[in-house]
Amino acid sequence: MNIHEYQAKAVLRAFSAPVANGFPAFTPEEAVEAAKKLGGPLWVVKTQIHAGGRGKGKFKEPEAGDKGGVRLARSIEEVETFARQMLGATLVTVQTGPAGKQVHRLYIEDGANIDKEFYLSALVDRVTSRISFVLSTEGGVNIEDVAHNTPEKIHSFSVDPATGIMPHHGRAAAKALGLTGEGAKQIESLVTRLYTAFVNKDMSMLEINPLIVQSNGQLRVLDAKVSFDSNALYRHPDIVALRDETEEDAKEIEASKHDLNYITLDGTIGCMVNGAGLAMATMDIIKLYGESPANFLDVGGGATKEKVTAAFKILTADSNVKGILINIFGGIMRCDVIAEGVIAAVKDVGLKVPLVVRLEGTNVDLGKKYIRESGLNVISADDLDDAAQKIVNAVRAAA
Ligand code: GDP
Ligand code: MG
Repeated sequence: MNIHEYQAKAVLRAFSAPVANGFPAFTPEEAVEAAKKLGGPLWVVKTQIHAGGRGKGKFKEPEAGDKGGVRLARSIEEVETFARQMLGATLVTVQTGPAGKQVHRLYIEDGANIDKEFYLSALVDRVTSRISFVLSTEGGVNIEDVAHNTPEKIHSFSVDPATGIMPHHGRAAAKALGLTGEGAKQIESLVTRLYTAFVNKDMSMLEINPLIVQSNGQLRVLDAKVSFDSNALYRHPDIVALRDETEEDAKEIEASKHDLNYITLDGTIGCMVNGAGLAMATMDIIKLYGESPANFLDVGGGATKEKVTAAFKILTADSNVKGILINIFGGIMRCDVIAEGVIAAVKDVGLKVPLVVRLEGTNVDLGKKYIRESGLNVISADDLDDAAQKIVNAVRAAA
């Protein structure tokens, strides 16, 4: 689960990380109120969307200005002007995709005088099975470019969970960033605080880009992006309360209500499959025959008719879906249950796109019989290869 920058900063502040004062604002009036409370002389007006690259982003509306989604204001009037321009406008960044994201909230923050911009992140590293820190002196800009062009400028170390964070990790961080004396002390204490926050809150990713040295020598977390491990959210009702569903995909929210493993993708063929491995293989073979999957969907082993119905409705409600491929290898999952779910869903919402069904395994004959007798216009397939070719051809014929 992702949260907004201002929420991430509040979480980090609770662990005594150095962040500026600031207030979220949902209206221009609240932005002015926030600016007055902060006092100035420099404010930052920051769009709050679940995507990075805001500073270099572009608004779709010309009247929102061409200076991006992070702006420095030198008066309260400027804060108000920027807030009026940004709220309600749609910001397109490298991370939002071409559709962009509509801005519903702002963060008004005390401005900092920047001396240096660093990069710092922490993540669960699957290779070492530990939490790793990644640091670079080249912060603020696109870190992917730094990693690609000058990999020697990226430093990392991982923390043994048995010992937890140790003073030598702090020294490694200071060395990576070229900090000595007072600066080294600050980064040593910061990585300790960040590691504690990461573990205590079950984060999966924490990215601070940039971490700055201010002109007075003090470190400050200038931007913060945090993701949490969804499987651990039951331990953190305070974090769950920060969820902003307007930032999430409506289809994925609906799927999560039914406990379905569903991810929206940008292709045209809706997939309903059981088992993550088979779902991946199904997506691959659709690609092999020249089309793209509209989603990943694993209905799971013990899906009920209701769950299958809900899943099928999510696929048919998606206007990008030009054809549906159901690929079920019945083990624990029974083919007749899949058939019943699909038939129930089609009765409810109809079916306007071609549907290819490939069933195999437990109760396959019963499943096929149900579909035959339902009168549904289904193209049946014998194996995965056959199924993929049939749905690709059907989608192309209909286009
Ligand atoms: P992002 O573009 O979504 O990553 O948003 P950031 O919060 O990282 O802000 C983008 C850039 O705006 C930063 O890299 C800074 O250069 C600049 N910026 C943000 N806050 C301040 C501030 O308080 N003072 C100054 N001088 N620049 C800032
Ligand atoms: Mg940033």
